[in-house]
Formats: sequence, C-alpha cells, structure tokens
Amino acid sequence: MVAKYNPQEIEKKWQQRWAEDKLYEVTEDDPKPKWYALTMFPYTSGDLHIGHWYAMAPSDVHARFKRMQGYNVLHPMGFDAFGLPAENAAISRGIHPFTWTMQNVDNMRRQLRSMGAIYDWSREVITCQSEYYKWTEWFFLKLYEAGLAYRAKAPVNWCPRCQTVLANEQVIEGFCERCGAAVIRRDLEQWFFRITKYADELMEHEGINWPERIKIMQRNWVGKSIGTELSFALEQPGIDEKKIRVFTTRPDTTFGVTFMVLAPEHPLVAKLTLPEKKAEVEDYIARSRRQTEIERLSTEKEKDGVFIGTYVINRLNGERVPVWIADYVLLSYGTGAVMGVPAHDERDFAFAKKYDLPIRVVIAPPDWQGGELDEAYTEPGTMVNSGQFNGLPSQQGIEAVSDFLEKNGWGKRTITYRLRDWLISRQRYWGAPIPMIYCPDCGVVPVPEEDLPVLLPEDAEFKPTGESPLKYHEQFVNTTCPRCGGPAKRETDTMDTFMCSSWYFLRYASPDCDTAAFDDRVRYWLPVDLYTGGAEHAVMHLFYARFFIKALRDMGLVDFGEPFTRLFNQGIIIVERQKMSKSRGNVITPDEYVSELGADAVRAYLMFVAPWEQGGEWNDSGISGISRWLNRLWNLALEIYEHYNKDPIVHEEITQKLERALLRDTHQTIRKVTEDLEKMRFNTMIAALMGFTSRLNGAREGRSVSKGTLTRALDTLMLLLAPTAPHLAEELWQRTGHEYSIHNQNWPQWDEELARDEQITLVVQVNGKLRDRIIIPVSITEEEARQIALEREKVKAYLEDREIIKVIYVPGRLVNVVVR
Ligand SMILES: [Zn+2]
Ligand SMILES: [Zn+2]
Repeated sequence: MVAKYNPQEIEKKWQQRWAEDKLYEVTEDDPKPKWYALTMFPYTSGDLHIGHWYAMAPSDVHARFKRMQGYNVLHPMGFDAFGLPAENAAISRGIHPFTWTMQNVDNMRRQLRSMGAIYDWSREVITCQSEYYKWTEWFFLKLYEAGLAYRAKAPVNWCPRCQTVLANEQVIEGFCERCGAAVIRRDLEQWFFRITKYADELMEHEGINWPERIKIMQRNWVGKSIGTELSFALEQPGIDEKKIRVFTTRPDTTFGVTFMVLAPEHPLVAKLTLPEKKAEVEDYIARSRRQTEIERLSTEKEKDGVFIGTYVINRLNGERVPVWIADYVLLSYGTGAVMGVPAHDERDFAFAKKYDLPIRVVIAPPDWQGGELDEAYTEPGTMVNSGQFNGLPSQQGIEAVSDFLEKNGWGKRTITYRLRDWLISRQRYWGAPIPMIYCPDCGVVPVPEEDLPVLLPEDAEFKPTGESPLKYHEQFVNTTCPRCGGPAKRETDTMDTFMCSSWYFLRYASPDCDTAAFDDRVRYWLPVDLYTGGAEHAVMHLFYARFFIKALRDMGLVDFGEPFTRLFNQGIIIVERQKMSKSRGNVITPDEYVSELGADAVRAYLMFVAPWEQGGEWNDSGISGISRWLNRLWNLALEIYEHYNKDPIVHEEITQKLERALLRDTHQTIRKVTEDLEKMRFNTMIAALMGFTSRLNGAREGRSVSKGTLTRALDTLMLLLAPTAPHLAEELWQRTGHEYSIHNQNWPQWDEELARDEQITLVVQVNGKLRDRIIIPVSITEEEARQIALEREKVKAYLEDREIIKVIYVPGRLVNVVVR
C-alpha cells in the first residue's frame, strides 16, 4: 500500500516552502529571456469567487510553463482598490473605506495564496495606498503639463442614490448599474483627458496580437467617419445665426433631403419653434431629458419627434425643408443636427413613413424603373433628381457635390469621431485626489510635484450629501496658493479608478521605487508579453491603458507605444446555465473546494471544463472526476517507484514492441501538451495528460516494459503536470527520489523521430477480394480507417452503383467492404 494523497497537507507545506525560498521572486539581472505574464488585477470586493480563479489559474499555468521553458517570468498580482463599493460600505456600515478595503485585501490575498500561483508577492501593488496614488497624482500633473488634461462644464449621468457621476457604460437602460436608481442628467465643471487626440492611433493595432473582436470594438468606439459638413440657410429674420450645419458621409444624396432633425438640446430650438408649437416641443424636450444617451440611441426604440413649425433652405436646390426635433439626435455627437434623406437611410426612411414625409429617390438603384422604394436604398448608384449632377455615379458624386459646396462656401470636407474625451472627475472620497488648487488671483494652479501626495484625510465624514466628502473637510479644502501664497481651495473631486489601472503594470516592474513612478526596470520588463482578462474591458480599461502609454511615450517617459503585446480573453464560468451572481445565490467560492479536494483539483478542473476562451459550466461531478484522476495518478507514481525500489529484481519479460509503444506515447504526449499550452488549449492538454496516465498504468500492470522506459515516462508525466497541479507534482517529484524543486526543471523536449507513428499496411477488400493496400499510422481509429478505405479511387471503382451492406474492420490489418 502506498501513502494516501492528502492535498490539504501537501499544498500548505509547499506553499510555505516556496515562499520561504522565494522560489518565484524574479530579478532583472538574469541571463534568461524575460517574459511578463499579467492577469488583470481584481477589484477588492471582499471574496474571490470561482470566476476569479477561472481568470487566474490558467494564466498561472501558462506562466509556469514559460518558466520551465527557460524564461525569466514576472507574474505579479495586486489589487484595484479605489472605487464606489468601499465608500458605500463606509456609509452603510460605518467602516472607513481604507479599513474595509484592506480587510478585503487580506482575505483575497489569503485566497490567492491558496491557489499556489507563482505570483511574486514582493511586487504587490495596492492602488489605494499613498505610495501608489502619489504617482497617480503625478501622472495627472504630467498629462496637465502636456495639455492633455483640461477642465470643462459638461452634462453628466447622475445617480441620485449613489450620489455620483456615472460613465455611459454604467447606465443600463436609464438605470444605475450599481444600485438600480433612475439616472438623471446634470451639468458640472469637471476634468477631462484629451483622449480624442489619439483617436486615429487608437484605431490601429499594429504589431500587437489581439483578438479580432476587441480590435473591432475599439475601432467602433472611436467611430471615425470621413464626410462633408454642409450648412442649410435659415429664413427667419432677427436670428444671429444664419445657418445650421450638418455632417454627412453621403453628400451625393443632398438633393434628397426632405426634412431636418435637430437634437432637442440644440441651442436654436427655442428660437426657431413657432409659438403654436411651443407646448408640444417643450413637452417632448422634458421627456427626452429623462432618457440616457444609450436609450436614445437604442436601435430597438421606435424613433419619434416633433415638427417645430419652421423651415430651412437646402442651398443646392433652394427647397424649403421642415425642421423637426428628435431624441435620436444628440447634441454631443457631431453638430447636433442631421439632414433627413429617407430614400437612402434606413432610420430616415422609418421616420418619414411614420410622419408621412416625402421620400425622394436621388440615387438610382441599378434596375430602378422610377417607382417608389419599399425600403431605403443605401448602396451606391447613379445620381438622379439632382440638377447638374444627374448621371454621376455615387462615388464621383460625393466628390463633385463636395467640391461644389466648398467652392460656394456652403460646406467643407471633414472627419468626425464618435469618441469623446475621457471624463475623469468623480464626486467621491475614495479615489486618488486630483492635485489642483483654485486661487482667486492665479486661477487654476497645479500642486507642485514636491508637495505630492495630496493625501486623503483619514477623518472625512461620510454622508450621502451628493458631493465629495472632501468638500466638507475644512483642513483639506483650505490651502495656500503655491504661486502667490494667498488663501486658495483644493479640488475636491477624485479621479476615475480607471486612471489607477491605466499604469499599474508599470509599477510592478519597480514597486519599491520611491523617487519616481517607475525606474529603468520598466525598460527590461515592458511591454507585457501576455495580458489575460475579460473581454468586457475592451472599450474601458484596455482602451484607457493604451491611451495612457501613448501619452507617456510622447512625453518621452517610456519607449514603447503599446502596453500589451498579446491579449487573450477568457470566457465566463456559469452555474446551472446562469451567470453567477449574489442575487441569484449561485456564487461558487473556491475555498470549500480547495479544503475538500485541493487547489490542484480546482485548477485542473477549471482548465478541463471547456476551451478557455469560451468558458463553461461549473459542475460538482466534473470536479470529482478530476480529483479521482489526480488520485489515480498519485497511486500510479508511487506504485511504479516503490515496485522498482523495493523489488529491484525485474523478473518480467520485456516486450520490445510495448517498450517502443510507451516511448512513442511519451514523446507524442510531450508534443501534444506543449503545443496545447502554447495555444492556451488547456482542456485538450488535460485530456492528453489523463489519457497518458491511463496508458502508463496499463504498461505498469502489464509488467512488460523496462524500468528505464517506465520511470522516464513517469518523470515526463510529473513534469508535464507541474504547471497544472504544482503541489502534487512537487510532492511526487520528491517522493520518487528527485531533487527539489520540480519547478526549476527544464520543460521536457520531444524527439520527432521517436514521436512518429508506427506505420502499418492496411489491406482493403471488396467482397473479400484484394483491391488496395494503404500505409497508415498504427494509431488510426476504426472510423478513420473505414473513411480512408472508402475514399480510395481503386476501391471506389468497385463500389459504383452498388449498395454497401457492411464494412468489416480488423484492427491494424484490413477493411472488407461487403456490397450487393
Ligand atoms: Zn446608483
Ligand atoms: Zn494665487
């Protein structure tokens, strides 16, 4: 009887030993090539659920694999620690956000340690600590100096319950993502980062290996359109403005304009509305104010609007065009006005049908007979009903109309973007303070660098007042102006937490540097070689981090322009076909499984459950199966070892054929596991290890393989298992007489020659008569052998017009097709 597998005991033991030996701490003076493997750091919510492990365990396996392949691997971990929940906890439970956050950090760090990852904890980063946010503030000053930070009044999504500004993405169908309250709009003086300066560059993903869908999402987020801005003349006397501007990518359709739509907030609406329309228009504006931009732009929502009673002039044909307002037009996008061309735009077509507005074809489809359209024709065609431009193809028409508008001073070619600047002000306490001072004499004055950090006062009072608690903290607010020395006030808003996460990966490279945000070690480690995390960060964190690095590059602070060379997005773990959530009560915590089956079983199961990028369903019987495999593997290893040690006289017959087969199997498994790990196909990697375990067990039971081949196969299995089940592999490595540590061993190499399949000659018969011979690998399955046989030309000739009754297969020897 061999010793029993006891994960609880061995996992704790090895975690402690690895920590004591600083096994996974890395330095920069290492001759090996560097590899920076980064997993998105978790928010300090309190507990890790199995979804966190799903993000972290496979990426740790990959990092361990790279380490055994001979790389100097940095795999750090930290905590994204500022943000709303901590402050809400402070309000509701009377705990200081710092206390609440650090309690959560302690718990999460304990959970993470139980996973047995190679995190270099000496490089831990916690964004709410002043030694970190001091540099977040410093970066703000750098962006300000570079002209990339500015202050402006802007309408914001305001959650009356959370008492804070929300990003558009945090508003779900008009309601707060966090608390569910209805969101309203408000104007506030706030700080922005000029991310739009980098719009074109952010659309490019040159030289980086990112998933196509993330690149598409980022390009759509920038939303670049090339077109022409043109103006329509106003006919009202007594109005200063003489025109309304619109942007179009299809100036060739301008003769088809039959209405104009303004955003309800457009400054001219009040001036242009006829008295008899006033009540209706004001009512519509009030209704649209209660909606968020996302709702207003929703494609599901039926578009509606109100005619305000006045007209503008289409300068190309002198026609009067009625002016409407509709909430699908936003003042903050483009000019806040759009021309309605119902014949050639789907949305305009629906609007015209709804309100019985004329639909005039000006771009003829190829086979158009001059009749009415059933739907908008949005493709290129030939210009008709367009005066001097008739007969021009659309593409030429776009240029000709644009030239004509420019020549007359009625328009100009231009490029527009959907992307807007990054609003970073948050009216909250729990964030990095914005290091700016307002002086009645000098205006806006940045805090001098040597005065950083602007510390968050510890004794702020947390009341749901609607403004930052810092605003009511006299000692914080009142300061002296660094320029004139007179009394001045501090900015009391704090920064969006996405600012903290835009540079944390730089800090890991030099976490102990106290004279700068980072030092030369950044040159060694950055950019990140492999970044893994959820796809939901496509247009927020991943976008902001790219902007940040490009801005730093232009300031000469870093010498690269992309932070993450390769990006990989894992899928989501679901439970009973549903997403995990506290409200559903279906959250799986790793702790109970770790204490019952061991961290190695949880790690291996998460990789086995589904292709990593797809995600899969958590299932208790699935993890039991994995646990049984690890137990079998444990017993197998110890039985092989003890058999050959206690009973060194090998009395069985060694069969050359079985000997060769196990050697081939060993090399094929190395190849398969290596290739799968390189492509992050963890589920098929685990399947290959399971299959190899069974076959190795068969070879042991058969007692017909030499000690050397059997123990080499076993050693290989332990090494291939080491990234997935690091504790189990370490323990077995030691118990089978090897030197500590398995994790410092080289990754096994395969020999193509030894891995090559043995070939056999398969005889193919039709009704018992020899028709063909095929050379095939010995490992071929019955299904494959039948298929190959039936597709041979020589065989097909005898199958024509005949019915196949059955196909007989004798493994490794023949296929006989019986026909009638
Ligand atoms: Zn809320
Ligand atoms: Zn001053």
